[in-house]
Amino acid sequence: MAAAESLAAIVDRALADIGSSADLAVLDEHRVRLLGKKGLLTDQLKTLGALPASERPAAGQRINEAKESIQRALDARRGVLEADKLDRELSAGAIDVSLPGRGEETGSVHPVTKARLRIEAIFKQAGFQVVTGPEIEDDFHNFEALNIPADHPARAMHDTFYFPDGRLLRTHTSPVQIRAMRVLRPPFAVIAPGRVYRLDSDMTHTPMFHQVEGIVVGENVSLANLKAMLTSFVEQYFERPLGIRLRPSYFPFTEPSAEVDIECVFCSGKGCRVCKQTGWLEILGSGMIHPNVLKAVGIDPERWQGYAFGMGIDRVAMLRYDVNDLRLFFENDVRFLKQFP
Ligand SMILES: [Zn+2]
Repeated sequence: MAAAESLAAIVDRALADIGSSADLAVLDEHRVRLLGKKGLLTDQLKTLGALPASERPAAGQRINEAKESIQRALDARRGVLEADKLDRELSAGAIDVSLPGRGEETGSVHPVTKARLRIEAIFKQAGFQVVTGPEIEDDFHNFEALNIPADHPARAMHDTFYFPDGRLLRTHTSPVQIRAMRVLRPPFAVIAPGRVYRLDSDMTHTPMFHQVEGIVVGENVSLANLKAMLTSFVEQYFERPLGIRLRPSYFPFTEPSAEVDIECVFCSGKGCRVCKQTGWLEILGSGMIHPNVLKAVGIDPERWQGYAFGMGIDRVAMLRYDVNDLRLFFENDVRFLKQFP
């Protein structure tokens, strides 16, 4: 009988295909092809209708037996393939407890923070107190009290970030001086390190940067005291004596005012690319506190004098660690930061 022969052939080929299935996906394709709704065995059942009624039960039974044997072969092969798969997964995920550890990486302090801590330590040793203040300031503390009224041209240089309510991100750490001077009574010496903000961005400017401001108020405080203090600071910070020079300058909150240059740390004053062949690097602004500023905080300028100075922490960190682009400090690229263990 043709139907029976082809059924036997289908079963033989099916068992061979199942036995050689390499993975569960291929095995499933065979299952669908053989036993699915449009599968070969289902087609066989459809041929029963064409047989004489007397032959149908026997033919039906043969087809069902064929289906069962194929199903058994599928189950058996699935069992083998699933066990193989599990073995592979287990061996791939195995933990080798004898492997050496990958090692812990030690973190490090950010170079700007290192510079700030160093500056603080030097000034603390000299008797300064470290004070801090808010980064969101009002016009009075950031400008007005520092002798920078609303129409003052110095405001234009500050490129200030304003809030809709008129408050602002402080453009310098000087407002901390004001806050400190309103509380402290002379004589006192404080430094105020912290973040400041200006609308500016290039190789040497970032919208957020760090400043440290220092003030000393007492009787008979003079520019000579300021110069002595700064000379000593520079020597300690750079760990060698460096010449400093004061150049007359202008700041609204000091009078007289001076920019302070140090001998170039890269060429020791001979002249190089960094110092633009001048042999000097500008690192801070300073001066004697303007009497108006002292008055604004209730300190009698007839009796007390003071000096003030301010410098960029990032700037002196760049000089100390020989970093030529300020933005590197704020990109937080671990490859860069790892160089400051
Ligand atoms: Zn130089």
